[in-house]
Amino acid sequence: MTTGASNGTRHRVAVVGGGIAGLAAAHALATAGDDIQVTLFESDGRLGGKLHTSPFAGHPAIDEGPDAFLARLPWGTALARTVGLGEQLVSPASGKAAVWWEGLHPIPEGLLLGMPTDVMALARSKLLSWPGKLRAATEPFRRRTSLEPDSLGGFVRARFGNEVHLRLVDPLVGSIYAADTDHFSLAAVPQIADLAGKGRSVLLAARKMPKPGAAAGPVFYAPTGGMGALALTVAQAVRAAGGELRTRAQVASLQADGPGWRVNDEPFAAVVLACPTGAASRLLAGVAPTAAELLAAIPSADVAMVTLALDAADWPDRLLGMSGYLVPKPMQRMVTAGSFGSQKWPHWALPDAVVLRVSLGRDGLPVLHLSDEQLLAATLDEVGRHLGLTLQPRHTRISRWQGAFPQYRPHHAARVERIEHALPAGIALAGAGYRGAGVPACIRSGQAAATTITARLRGVAD
Ligand SMILES: Cc1cc2nc3c(=O)[nH]c(=O)nc-3n(C[C@H](O)[C@H](O)[C@H](O)COP(=O)(O)OP(=O)(O)OC[C@H]3O[C@@H](n4cnc5c(N)ncnc54)[C@H](O)[C@@H]3O)c2cc1C
Repeated sequence: MTTGASNGTRHRVAVVGGGIAGLAAAHALATAGDDIQVTLFESDGRLGGKLHTSPFAGHPAIDEGPDAFLARLPWGTALARTVGLGEQLVSPASGKAAVWWEGLHPIPEGLLLGMPTDVMALARSKLLSWPGKLRAATEPFRRRTSLEPDSLGGFVRARFGNEVHLRLVDPLVGSIYAADTDHFSLAAVPQIADLAGKGRSVLLAARKMPKPGAAAGPVFYAPTGGMGALALTVAQAVRAAGGELRTRAQVASLQADGPGWRVNDEPFAAVVLACPTGAASRLLAGVAPTAAELLAAIPSADVAMVTLALDAADWPDRLLGMSGYLVPKPMQRMVTAGSFGSQKWPHWALPDAVVLRVSLGRDGLPVLHLSDEQLLAATLDEVGRHLGLTLQPRHTRISRWQGAFPQYRPHHAARVERIEHALPAGIALAGAGYRGAGVPACIRSGQAAATTITARLRGVAD
C-alpha cells in the first residue's frame, strides 16, 4: 500500500479522534482535492466526541454535552452552513441568567464575561456588597497591572477586587471552561485579555469600545437536531467526499516509517492527532518525547451533566423566562450551574414538563468518583435549595464527561508553541487542548491542522 506520491497516487492522511476537531480536519482534508485520501479513527462506537445528543423524556434530541456554539466566531456557523445545516440553526430565546449568592441575582448589564465595562450597571445590582462595588469603582485610578503572571483571577482581583472576581468573572468564565480562574491563563480568554492589553484601566479602555448594535445578531447558534446533528452531518459530508470514518477503532500505536507514519501499523503520509492531550501524549511518547512530555502536563477537569424533566405544574412563575444560573466558588458544593433548557431552547419544549441541565464539578472540584445515585441526590438537594423548590423529577439522565475540559494554566500559549515546535514533520495537533475549547475554536484547529498537512504533502510532492 502506498502512502501517497507526486505522480497520480494519493496521500493517505490519518485523523485520530472523531470529535468535532477531528471531523472538521477530516472534512477539510476530504474536500481539499483528489490528491488527499483521509481515514479517521475513533475509539468510541459513536462519532462526535463531546457533541452528543440523545432522546430524553420523550423528546428526540436533548444534548448531553454542549448545547450551542458561539455565533460571533465564524468557524462553527460556516461549517454548519457548508454541510447544509444553515436553515436549521436556531438561537436561544432571550432569557435572563442569574448568579446564586444566597438567592438568585440577575447578572448585571454591561459585563464582558463578568468583567465590568460600566460600573453604573454594577451599582444597581444586589449581587455585590457596597464595599465590593466601591472597590470596583476605583479601577480607573489604580496603577497598571502586569499581565506577565498570566492569571485571569489575579488580574481581575487586582483591577476590580475579590467580589467582582468571585461573584462575576469566576462563575461566568469558570462555567465555560469548568475552570478555577485563579489557575487559568488570562491570555486564553481573548475578550478579557484584549481589553486588559489596551491600557492601564479596563473601564477607561471599555469606554472606547464600540457598543454592540442591534444588528449584532445572535450570540449563540445550535442546530434544531442538537449539537450531535452537527457532528453527524459533518461526518456524512466527509463520507460523501470520499473520506473513510472508522468507529471502534482506537489508535494504539504511532511509529515513524521513512518520510511517513504507521498508525496501528497501517501506512500514512501524515497524521492529525485530534484526540485529547493525554491520548496525544501517549501516542507521541515514542516518536516525539519532548512534545509528549509537554502534552502530559496539560491537566483537565471532569464534569457531570445531570438532566432533569420536572412537572411544569411544579415550576414557579418567578422562574419563567430565565435561562439559568451560575453558582460562584464560595457557594459551590457540587453544582456549578443550572440551565433551564426548555426555556432557553423553545424547540426543547415538552408538554407539561420543564427540562433542566445541571453541571457538576470543575477544576479542583472532582465529582466523577460519586455514584449516579450520589450525583442525582446532590443535584436534587442543591438545585432544590438554590431554587427554593422540592424537586421530584419525572425523568433523569446522568452524563459523565471524564477529562471534559483541558485547563489552560498560566502561559498555556507558550506551552502550545513549544509542543508544536517539538512535533515531527507530518504530524499536526487539533482539538480543545490548544487554542480554545469552544466548538468554533475546535473546528478552526481541525481546519488549520488540515491546511498544515496538505501544504506539507504538496510541498514534498512538488
Ligand atoms: C458538558 C459539556 C458542555 C459543553 N458546552 C459547550 C458549549 O455549550 N459550547 C461550546 O462551544 N463548547 C462546549 N463544550 C466544549 C466543547 O464541546 C469541547 O471542547 C469540544 O467538543 C471538544 O472537541 P474535540 O474534538 O477537541 O474533542 P472530543 O470531543 O473529546 O473528541 C476527541 C475524540 O478522540 C477520541 N479518541 C481519544 N483517544 C483516541 C485514540 N487513541 N484513538 C482514536 N480515537 C481516540 C475520543 O473518543 C473522542 O471522540 C462543552 C463540553 C462539555 C463536556
